[in-house]
Amino acid sequence: MGITLRNVSKSFGALGVVHDVSLDIPTGDFAVFVGPSGCGKSTLLRMIAGLEETTAGSISIEGRDVTEVEPAKREVAMVFQSYALYPHLTVFENMAFSLRLKKTPKAQVNDMVQEAARILHLEEQLQKRPSELSGGQRQRVAIGRAIVRKPKVFLFDEPLSNLDAELRVQMRLELAKLHREIGATMIYVTHDQVEAMTLADRIFVLKKGVLQQAGKPLDLYDDPHNQFVGGFIGSPA
Ligand code: ADP
Ligand code: MG
Repeated sequence: MGITLRNVSKSFGALGVVHDVSLDIPTGDFAVFVGPSGCGKSTLLRMIAGLEETTAGSISIEGRDVTEVEPAKREVAMVFQSYALYPHLTVFENMAFSLRLKKTPKAQVNDMVQEAARILHLEEQLQKRPSELSGGQRQRVAIGRAIVRKPKVFLFDEPLSNLDAELRVQMRLELAKLHREIGATMIYVTHDQVEAMTLADRIFVLKKGVLQQAGKPLDLYDDPHNQFVGGFIGSPA
């Protein structure tokens, strides 16, 4: 089942930004959408999250059309590049926020936040405020806020692009570990080819809203279907 897109298109007025995209992501995969800035990656992700309607085509997650599921019941969590944490709340309270909204019992909130903190190495930071954290720690809190909701699907929109190069490499490793540990389906959007090649079970290369090629990183590298894919992925063809 997993995530399925069938002939998905999106226009904003006269501007077509996604054109007839069909793809499948098996449950539990780490999928990466990669392509230059403006090629429609964020728009695709927002449609999968149910935050944006498709102009044509359909999207389903585990066999259910995303438009059929009411927002509060969606088991999808999204992590953005600009990780807006609540500055006046502690790390613990930032991560507990959505659980409190859902009136989750206190003991359970505590367990879920502790578990997320363990996975993300934030146990020592729980009583701090965001201003006392490093960029990488803040990004981990943003991911922690998503983890506590135990989503089946994680959507990451260039979550590391505000971090410096060294931290990006470290966070990539942590995301790969997170994926192994919680086993959710993940879609990760980036314009960074290296990030795509390192993280992906399956890469989807986009150019101007059109899916160019989908496959395992090495397959794309060894057998790019066109010059754009070859050039973009960095293979010699
Ligand atoms: P990417 O994430 O790959 O950089 P986006 O999905 O953000 O690309 O944008 C794709 C195209 O759609 C861009 O040309 C962008 O300007 C346009 N676009 C995105 N959102 C809107 C919107 N709400 N209204 C009008 N145009 C939009
Ligand atoms: Mg984007």
